[in-house]
Amino acid sequence: MPVLTPQVHIPFPFSGMNVDNMQMTDLRLEPKPTPLALLLLGRDADPDSEKGVECPGALPQASDPDLVARATAAKARLGDRVFILGHHYQRNEVIEFADVTGDSFKLAQQAAAHPEAEYIVFCGVHFMAESADILTADTQAVVLPDMAAGCSMADMAAINQVEACWKTLKDAGIADVTVPITYMNSTAAIKAFTGRNGGAVCTSSNARRSLEWAFEQGEKVLFLPDQHLGRNTAVLDLGLSLEDCIVFNPMLPNGGVSVEELRAAKMILWRGHCSVHARFTAKAIADVRAQVPGVNVIVHPECAYEVVSNADVVGSTEVIIATIAAAKPGTAWAVGTELNLVKRLAQDNPDKQIVFLDHSVCFCATMNRIDLPHLVWALESLADGNLVNQITVDPDTAHWAKVALDRMLSLPGTSTVRD
Ligand code: SF4
Repeated sequence: MPVLTPQVHIPFPFSGMNVDNMQMTDLRLEPKPTPLALLLLGRDADPDSEKGVECPGALPQASDPDLVARATAAKARLGDRVFILGHHYQRNEVIEFADVTGDSFKLAQQAAAHPEAEYIVFCGVHFMAESADILTADTQAVVLPDMAAGCSMADMAAINQVEACWKTLKDAGIADVTVPITYMNSTAAIKAFTGRNGGAVCTSSNARRSLEWAFEQGEKVLFLPDQHLGRNTAVLDLGLSLEDCIVFNPMLPNGGVSVEELRAAKMILWRGHCSVHARFTAKAIADVRAQVPGVNVIVHPECAYEVVSNADVVGSTEVIIATIAAAKPGTAWAVGTELNLVKRLAQDNPDKQIVFLDHSVCFCATMNRIDLPHLVWALESLADGNLVNQITVDPDTAHWAKVALDRMLSLPGTSTVRD
């Protein structure tokens, strides 16, 4: 087989097609006197959301030609006092300065494994920094270079909505037999909710094991906040039917489902999704198969059921990276995950053809909030003795979130899971 030229097909960045952008545009048309409206004006933070706002002080200009030198110098001034974590979906300009790269759970574990670091600079999104704060020592400060780096999926499950859902399940008489499982990609408050109510956290790698455990503890699962990971795991891994799954919509009275439907369901899926992965389509898979003969389609389980069930390989970011690295030279891969990672896969696998699965999908807008100017600003501030953008989780929330995380870690073979 001939060795194919490495390439990656990408859409024009930030073309306005991203769901996040669409939501923000809609909200701007109808500003309301709420914390969220203030957030959009860059003047405040939404206390019920994991989103933050602007950084205090002066950010370097993105055009500053000395940004790389400034980041290098600030990191050198901090030495072992700082440990920089870079999520797989970060820009290359940020990844260059990461001491370790990985998925959110691996990075939180890495932070905990470096107690000598006074500052953990988390180049990822807010819920990841929260997890790092929960797992690290009280003497360590976790810093998010841009407080606006939230996660739209995590924001789709606010704690007051989840508490209201739980009351609906209680009123239906099924809360006692329902085990809440939350994906790692959720706020600390949601993780704590699952801890308080006998549930656990899961990652995309151990979702099957977590669901099997949950069905040993009870008769039903409330899966938060990603309906796709919940459905894909329940149907494709556990053999449940699509009819066993119902979607609880927090925007509708009683979730938009009847008491009878709640009592009949085995999987109660929260109506949340990833704004990036939910945009991949089964049609894109059909198109790429027609355009690239012999292509292997590999997608993340946050993609919709019809996408996952049409792919050749389904796996977490770590699985995607390892699978393509181990693939034979000359093979072709269409990859359905975040674009920064796909671009890096193309660079790191020049002996294979790497194709982005869907031309209508953009970068993760919130991940991309972290850029070199923000990293320089955070590192220089820390080197100057100014602790900025610290992410903290209150002790009670941290305790119960840790209970849920520990339940996941106690599952066989879970100490090295990846999300
Ligand atoms: S890629 Fe999806 S799940 Fe990950 S941070 Fe972005 S919106 Fe959240």
